[in-house]
Amino acid sequence: MNLHFDTSHAEGYSSNSQKARVLTEFWVKDNAYCPGCGTIPLYQFENNRPVADFYCRQCNEEFELKSKKGNFTNTVMDGAFETMIQRLESNIVPNFFLLTYSAHWTVNNFIIIPKQFFTFSIIIRRNPLPPHARRAGWTGCNIDISGVPDAGRVHLVKNGTEVNRTTVKEAFNRTSFMRKQKSDAKGWIIDTMNCIDAIEKTTFKLSDMYAFEEALRRKYPNNNFIKDKLRQQLQNLRDKGIIEFISPGVYRKVQL
Ligand SMILES: [Zn+2]
Repeated sequence: MNLHFDTSHAEGYSSNSQKARVLTEFWVKDNAYCPGCGTIPLYQFENNRPVADFYCRQCNEEFELKSKKGNFTNTVMDGAFETMIQRLESNIVPNFFLLTYSAHWTVNNFIIIPKQFFTFSIIIRRNPLPPHARRAGWTGCNIDISGVPDAGRVHLVKNGTEVNRTTVKEAFNRTSFMRKQKSDAKGWIIDTMNCIDAIEKTTFKLSDMYAFEEALRRKYPNNNFIKDKLRQQLQNLRDKGIIEFISPGVYRKVQL
């Protein structure tokens, strides 16, 4: 990957936002590969296709690109709220590439969030545009990526350094089992992953997980078996290679 944008593509554009759009799109087209199967290059959809920007001809994964100068905050602006909700309901959300770049047009971070991490709870409705706006009443949405666990943020480039492609493929694919899950089951997996992320140690105990019982009880007031549920999710994550069982009640995060 060449981490410098090819600024010749921006000749003839005057506005910075247009330049940024053109340069980031060209960069992905010229440098990105499919994190699912490793195929190079990715192909661009025709402009204004509402669902995704790029796709892989080998495995048909689809990708939407969001880019930003500087660092990403936890909130990423997306399109119309209703469209996003409909996409989630019909299960046609693409994977999201998040690209951040420096003032000198070089890539800082390039992250893929696999589509299975998009749930209703991270899509936040924005206020409708005011009456004097050109598109008065239009309501956009933000994606709150603070709710996406570490397993759902796969770096292809981290702090200006490319990550090994085999690691990226493994990290991208190890959570694909979640795609077949109903939203309840997926919600529990994501909550459990977020609890594990909140534990600062690599090796942790069941009692560390039980410390989240009260918080989870508030989220799932009708579930009287939070501890059982957590143990079940830990087994599930062990079976998928996201954590390891070290000894009874002791677990370790699998670092890729
Ligand atoms: Zn692919």
